[in-house]
Amino acid sequence: MNEYDSDLVAQDLVSFGWKPTEYMEEADLIIVNTCTVRKKPEHKAYSFIGRAVALKKRRPHMIIAVIGCLAQQKKEEIMERFPEVDMVIGARDVVKFLDYFRETIHTRKKIVSACLDTYLRTPALVKGFFKGRVTGYVSIMQGCNNFCSYCIVPYVRGREISRPLEEIIKEMEFLVSEGVRDITLLGQNVNSYRWKDIDFPKLLKEVSKVEGLWRLRFTTSHPKDVSDELIACFKELENLCPHIHLPFQAGSNRILALMNRKYTREKYIELIEKLRNIRPDIAITADVMVGFPGETEKDFQDTIDLIKKVQFDNLFSFKYTDRPGTPAEKMKNKVPEEEKEKRLTVLQRIQKEITLKKNKELEGKEVEVLVEGFSKKGDQLTGRTETNKIVNFYGNIVNFYGNSELIGHIVKVKIEQAFANSLRGRFISYVR
Ligand code: SAM
Ligand code: SF4
Repeated sequence: MNEYDSDLVAQDLVSFGWKPTEYMEEADLIIVNTCTVRKKPEHKAYSFIGRAVALKKRRPHMIIAVIGCLAQQKKEEIMERFPEVDMVIGARDVVKFLDYFRETIHTRKKIVSACLDTYLRTPALVKGFFKGRVTGYVSIMQGCNNFCSYCIVPYVRGREISRPLEEIIKEMEFLVSEGVRDITLLGQNVNSYRWKDIDFPKLLKEVSKVEGLWRLRFTTSHPKDVSDELIACFKELENLCPHIHLPFQAGSNRILALMNRKYTREKYIELIEKLRNIRPDIAITADVMVGFPGETEKDFQDTIDLIKKVQFDNLFSFKYTDRPGTPAEKMKNKVPEEEKEKRLTVLQRIQKEITLKKNKELEGKEVEVLVEGFSKKGDQLTGRTETNKIVNFYGNIVNFYGNSELIGHIVKVKIEQAFANSLRGRFISYVR
């Protein structure tokens, strides 16, 4: 979501005549886009703002803007702590960033704005901006009405609001015309998308028709809202990738109730069964937390049990941290930090084994990979399977399709070795 917002602001600035620089030291404007979902990104944001402020001491004309969720929540605090910051613009208000920026450069007055009613508008859609990108995001809605007891999102991103279908399609068609082939629809809870009589499954059916869109994905789904109609889309829609990110957060019904998640572990397991019945090859990933207030060893073991039962392809796992203003912050029986750390280590070790086992099942198999670019080391090509697994492989230089020509195309790759975080394979053939 933040990457999408950053691109929106960057496109506005490019259309206003500004250019990105690779070097922070030569920037005339630094924008820090922040996240406040957990404590860690908050600390990272503060330390990055600190670096920008240090640079400004040498380049006083420089403008520093802090945008996003932390800006929404801690506007006054940021201004007090860093008087060198020129603009603080909240998560929802980033759509008006350019207007505020114009005002700042004309008046040099400080601007703090954090309105939560702002509409999500279509980005400037600047030609050439997405050059070289094969994957992209399109936001279909903003905000959240669920109020999970640990979560700050409804307070910093406001209530749910969906974008008109035509705007979503227009943006997707633009991305495809720029070479993007794999689009992820974004929302805090995409299942509650509604525009006139169009709900999320209907939206999926409409956008899957975008010509030239090879791969369609969405994130994030809330288990309480996954309908049979949505599950059926995994069979019906050819370009909908067999991958779902379905956060479960905890495996204990008592903790799920305290979290205000509105589903049980039994309901979650039933959903997974339905998904696998309809699409046996579907990859399932999720978010999970350890150390929610009052989580006992028995509750934690319920989480481990669920992980072993479901056999996730991968998990994003976090230690619970208090978020200001949320109901969980006020709950008693906080789990000590060392205990949270211990539980997280156990959980991650178990999941790593499962991920590796699942990846190993692919050894010797041929998979279709959408090539995104070169691997970190630069010697191999890298891309993803439909199930969102990273595959690194050597291109077929002897053949007409030399290495860089394969970027943006789908190729068949035979998996030779599986690791926990990626797969290594051998180029077999060009698909499209
Ligand atoms: N909307 C998504 C959902 O309902 O699952 C999740 C959005 S949240 C921005 C991303 C993840 O951060 C959550 O799934 C949760 O696991 C984690 N998270 C949220 N609040 C947290 C907190 N207070 N402490 C630790 N992790 C948290
Ligand atoms: Fe936060 Fe997701 Fe719950 Fe909304 S549904 S409150 S974004 S965890």
